[in-house]
Amino acid sequence: AKDSRCGIRVYRPEDDHDTARRLALMAGLRVAVDAGTLTVVYQPKVDPATGRVLGAEALVRWQHDGRPVPPDEFIPLAEQARLIGPLTRHVLDTALADCATWRGLGHPLTVAVNLSPDMLTDSALTGQIEQALRRHGMPPEALTLEITENAIMADPTNSRRTLDALHGLGVKLSIDDFGTGHSSLGRLAHLPIHEVKIDKSFVRHIVTDRTRRAVTDAALQLARALDLTVVAEGVEEQDELDYLRRHGCHAIQGYLISKPIPPVEFLTWLTAARAGG
Ligand code: C2E
Ligand code: CA
Ligand code: CA
Ligand code: CA
Repeated sequence: AKDSRCGIRVYRPEDDHDTARRLALMAGLRVAVDAGTLTVVYQPKVDPATGRVLGAEALVRWQHDGRPVPPDEFIPLAEQARLIGPLTRHVLDTALADCATWRGLGHPLTVAVNLSPDMLTDSALTGQIEQALRRHGMPPEALTLEITENAIMADPTNSRRTLDALHGLGVKLSIDDFGTGHSSLGRLAHLPIHEVKIDKSFVRHIVTDRTRRAVTDAALQLARALDLTVVAEGVEEQDELDYLRRHGCHAIQGYLISKPIPPVEFLTWLTAARAGG
């Protein structure tokens, strides 16, 4: 046994196991990113007042050894292994191609792609996005980039530079997981953002929990004052949707409407959703 008094960590067999698993996953992920075998699923964003489909969020999926690995597990690994750049470019390219298809079929939708914190300080990002838009003949305003507030606050100066460049390009910027970070509403107000996404941990208890409802109400008020769009994620219950609609939430996402689904299924769902009104 090692001595923890000297600042040496006590040996646990599960540490080796965790490390081995992480290394195996990283190696597998590298292969998947190189081979382009990561897939993308889409979750619709819907106007709660009219039921109209506004767009979809692209979420990456990975099968390793025949099993799905959750993004919450492999995205941090991709970040550590410096694979997040190529991974994001793959998701972006796939999402823009699919969105161009929807639009070509007469569905005027937007698509949202998640950006990891590190991407925000990558000076090549704006140019890559501009090229990807051009490759797929997509107007910049049809693309939303979702960024967490903590990502911005980790390096406010460089993030600001990137956000300004992306804003100049004409793409839309969304603050993801709103309410879970440490930033004040006032600081966000100075950024060139178009949208805030209320985190599902607040939406979950919107009807029963005063504290979480207060965060949602504050977001809706701020958004109205600043001309921002408010999206609520993780909507699972009809009474959550009703509350959000009554309080002027612009868009909702969640299992109540649809789980994230593969592109072919999404097109079928879209056609059925439109036929149903
Ligand atoms: P996120 O961006 O906050 O995405 C929302 C997550 O909530 C997704 O999990 C989605 O499947 C899930 N969700 C949607 N509706 C509901 C609902 O009604 N109830 C519940 N309980 N969950 C719901 P997912 O796909 O597992 O992704 C987890 C996280 O991984 C994402 O959180 C995002 O931070 C990250 N991620 C996913 N795809 C990408 C990607 O392409 N790039 C990057 N950088 N991160 C990604
Ligand atoms: Ca997101
Ligand atoms: Ca989120
Ligand atoms: Ca998240």
